[in-house]
Amino acid sequence: MSNHLSDRIKNMSTSATLAMAAKARELRNEGKDIIGLSLGEPDFNIPDFIKEAAKQAIDDNFSSYTPVDGYAELKKAISLKFKRDNNLEYGPNQIVVSTGAKQSLFNVALVVLNPGDEVILPAPYWVSYSDIVKLAEGVPVEVTTGIETDFKMTPAQLEAAITPKTRMIWFSSPCNPSGSVYSKAELEGLAEVLRKHPDIYVVSDEIYEHINFAGGHVSIAGIDGMYDRTITVNGVSKAFAMTGWRIGYIGAPEWIAKGCTKLQGQVTSGANAIAQRAVITALEAPVSKIQYMIDEFHKRRDLVLELLGEIDGFNLNVPEGAFYVFPDISAFFGKTLNGTTINNASDFALYLLEHANVATVTGEAFGNPNCIRISYAASEKELKEAIARIKAVV
Ligand code: PMP
Ligand code: GLU
Repeated sequence: MSNHLSDRIKNMSTSATLAMAAKARELRNEGKDIIGLSLGEPDFNIPDFIKEAAKQAIDDNFSSYTPVDGYAELKKAISLKFKRDNNLEYGPNQIVVSTGAKQSLFNVALVVLNPGDEVILPAPYWVSYSDIVKLAEGVPVEVTTGIETDFKMTPAQLEAAITPKTRMIWFSSPCNPSGSVYSKAELEGLAEVLRKHPDIYVVSDEIYEHINFAGGHVSIAGIDGMYDRTITVNGVSKAFAMTGWRIGYIGAPEWIAKGCTKLQGQVTSGANAIAQRAVITALEAPVSKIQYMIDEFHKRRDLVLELLGEIDGFNLNVPEGAFYVFPDISAFFGKTLNGTTINNASDFALYLLEHANVATVTGEAFGNPNCIRISYAASEKELKEAIARIKAVV
């Protein structure tokens, strides 16, 4: 039979982060000693107190369908978390729990966008934003930022990108892939532009909120005039090392939350029951319980910056959050290394995989063709070895 894949799927790119992780796994299975720095996934175990809550939930028979938008107790814990950490008031009707923040983002795109609506993506942006927007028949509009502005969009750039078709802007702070953190003043600058355009909605992806070494996470929803048009996205994958548990959530204007609930009522029926129960415990705990992981990421960031800084051709910003560095490696373009000509960031990432056995991700997947992303969610030993190998082949 011939292949009748829909145009929708044919036109969609494969997630570059997941593809690189799969490739690294495949090479490892073939016996190669690959160090995987491609996937944004904490290498810590889930804290024991959260595991205990999940075990208890199994024993307590939390095995039925949950409310589509999440257990009431979980939404209450999320509401308190928003108040405690972000000084944001989101009531239960404004909160929707989903199967990972990735699904939260997907829901929002389908609920808010009509075909042809433009979505401003300050680049570099997280790998899935542009394909999620395209699946919802929106049009991603990339705003290029570089290392000179710490990969942050300026108010003037935002203003220049707005057209009568602009419907949303999506960004993450701390940012995946650049690690950049928008300060309050910088967010106020963007808000000042947005206040002139009341029909533009903001997706503020705050999943790395706690992994912030500069201190002081700021939510754009808390800035004047932004609350009614911001969808605050968060989840437990990063701060609680719960990637496989697949729980994310939004705080949003009620009509958006209602739309997301309607949508997931036809798609997933709601997120996993046991994971939801465990997340109640995770979110009720003080942030001090996960501080050890944040401190460790901070130490590793300093180590990676120091070691990569010793390699000629790696131009680095100082990421203040998340667990990535995003070096500009365009100095290698046009050069031939060990018989391989490097024309772009994808060539460079492939070269590192083949010659240094180190998996990274090309910046092209994040809308920046001059950089590669290196995740430092790996042990100090692996990081030292990986960077020594990189140094040896470049
Ligand atoms: N947003 C950003 C910026 C991310 O890095 C990730 C990581 N996967 C997600 C959203 C999705 O997270 P989740 O595991 O909750 O789907
Ligand atoms: N967010 C992580 C990353 O950027 C996990 C992979 C993914 O969900 O794409 O690597």
